[in-house]
Amino acid sequence: RCADVAMYQAKSSGRNHYAFYHHSLGKRHRDALELEQALRRAMAEQRLEVHYQPKICLADGRVDSLEALVRWHDPQRGQVPPDLFIPVAENLGLIQQLGAYVLQHVCAQLAQWPAQTRVAVNISAKELSASSFLPMVRQLLQRYGIAPGQLELEITESCLVPEQAEQTLRLLSALRQMGIRIAIDDFGTGYSSLSYLRHLPIDSIKIDRSFIRALPADVSDCQITSAILAMAKALGLQVVAEGIETPQQLEFLLQAGCDLGQGYLFARPQPAAALKL
Ligand code: C2E
Ligand code: CA
Ligand code: CA
Ligand code: CA
Repeated sequence: RCADVAMYQAKSSGRNHYAFYHHSLGKRHRDALELEQALRRAMAEQRLEVHYQPKICLADGRVDSLEALVRWHDPQRGQVPPDLFIPVAENLGLIQQLGAYVLQHVCAQLAQWPAQTRVAVNISAKELSASSFLPMVRQLLQRYGIAPGQLELEITESCLVPEQAEQTLRLLSALRQMGIRIAIDDFGTGYSSLSYLRHLPIDSIKIDRSFIRALPADVSDCQITSAILAMAKALGLQVVAEGIETPQQLEFLLQAGCDLGQGYLFARPQPAAALKL
């Protein structure tokens, strides 16, 4: 945004400002390069961590499964949020490496946990489009002795862009045939129509936090949530609500028939060692 402002100034007030514009773009470029270097180093030195947030069965409060969320603490930058560095990794072609890193750490961790433990891993669209994805997953499960049913993949609707849809559907079907579960993440924020879901080889959908936040006060969010639940139920899909923070949200979702939920009301993402399973 700084660079955009600078460009506007350069255009509107003549050549004097060109240097400033150029400088600010240069700085942005340098920052991005430094972040890339730091991320590469963190991966090479095994300094990325994986935290786990429980998915709770709303009816009885039991832990159903876990979601793996990557964490990066950089000595200079402090805690860098994944919403910031995942897009960087995607743009720099580092995401496949990062995804493999997370999957490997999750499988190694699953091997330490009771055999019925299930972990969901977030997968970027760019990871799914690599032909190495399926063999990589198969190899990791084998290496760590993990049953495919212990693994779930959370993908977003952006994985299903028309240009890739056919290839992605084939891959998802193959993964699912192995016994791996598939979830649609951030449901409701993308472009796929509700009826489109019927054709997808998936097990569950996760209602995005943006729809949960204002429950039960916001009438239209209540209606959207109820509609998603009714439709998912008709299609035999499990539903997870993200970002539950209040007892009132929980109460609404329970009444509406939501199966599972995640959020600070139950538990924050935490290191494996902090979880009692
Ligand atoms: P997401 O998959 O939608 O994950 C849910 C996010 O909401 C997580 O943020 C989680 O910590 C946060 N959260 C959970 N409960 C609550 C709550 O009650 N209130 C609020 N305000 N937030 C809550 P996080 O860990 O910062 O991750 C952000 C996003 O980064 C994730 O969104 C996911 O898209 C991406 N991400 C995280 N780990 C990975 C990964 O290993 N691989 C890939 N490709 N993406 C990842
Ligand atoms: Ca997720
Ligand atoms: Ca989300
Ligand atoms: Ca997300």
